[in-house]
Amino acid sequence: MPELRKDPITNRWVIISTERGKRPGDWLVGPKVRSGGFCPFCPGNEDKTPPEIVALRPNSSAPNTTGWSIRVVPNKFPALQIEGDLNPRGEGLYDLMNGVGAHEVIIETPNHLAELADLSLDHVQDILLTYRARILDLKNDTRFKYILVFKNRGTAAGASLEHSHSQLIATPIIPKRVQEELFGAHQHFELKERCIYCDILRQELHSGKRVVVARADYVAIEPFAPRFPFETWLLPTRHVSHFEATEPELYHGLAVTLQETLQRISSALDDPHYNFILHTFPLQEPASLEYHWHLEIIPKLTRVAGFEWGSGFYINPTPPEIAAQHLRDARL
Ligand SMILES: [Zn+2]
Ligand SMILES: [Zn+2]
Ligand SMILES: [Zn+2]
Repeated sequence: MPELRKDPITNRWVIISTERGKRPGDWLVGPKVRSGGFCPFCPGNEDKTPPEIVALRPNSSAPNTTGWSIRVVPNKFPALQIEGDLNPRGEGLYDLMNGVGAHEVIIETPNHLAELADLSLDHVQDILLTYRARILDLKNDTRFKYILVFKNRGTAAGASLEHSHSQLIATPIIPKRVQEELFGAHQHFELKERCIYCDILRQELHSGKRVVVARADYVAIEPFAPRFPFETWLLPTRHVSHFEATEPELYHGLAVTLQETLQRISSALDDPHYNFILHTFPLQEPASLEYHWHLEIIPKLTRVAGFEWGSGFYINPTPPEIAAQHLRDARL
């Protein structure tokens, strides 16, 4: 019998429909084809990207030359532009404003063939600290209300370049998905005076059914009502609303947890394409007891189709308990 499950944060219902016949082993996505050809993110091609914003250069080489280990550049085809005023205005009943924002690319490694999951722990930690540094820098620009850090890995996840990279977009408004979480977390806090994510962590660690990785400092779980098969959330065990408020010494544990989670997903699902997104509290707000930053990892195994688009329901053929078991059993 299919099951309807409600996400306690957003109140979004999902349909867990195992009848649709997919078993974890059926997700094998098949061989990946590398497109090859010219890559603007490879060392030697620094002049093919806009000038770098910041880079980690272990040998103190000059900006926009080789010798970097992580490089942050403006997106050459930005969704939003950094210059200008918002100029919010109305057109009859319609609201609009100028497309002001920042759109940056974090080139995670000089090695064209390396994947995030395979980099050294120190390197993964440096990438996560780079996210933090960029958020702290962009926070000074009060036009920006939110920064979404995300990664599209593979064509199925929307990546146009195969060289491992992540991106961030700073926006002058708080995105709707985030607002839904903020609203749900606020409702829960009003009722219980507790953070809903802390409550979820407590319950999940107690039951263990949906836990993928459990460390003292970070935990990876399959949520109770996941939209997608093998959707995985990674959270700090200690309550903190802003990602960038995490002290630098806590990024090692985060790197360990992220790497192990990605490796388990890669091993269990034959190296799937995936997205991850970082959900954190709005940039210009003070620390909150209501909201808890987290990373959502979504392997691209299904397509969003008409029913999902039309209803906001998601049909997920893999129960999270089975996904969690499968990820825990994955050979590393
Ligand atoms: Zn490359
Ligand atoms: Zn919390
Ligand atoms: Zn979220």
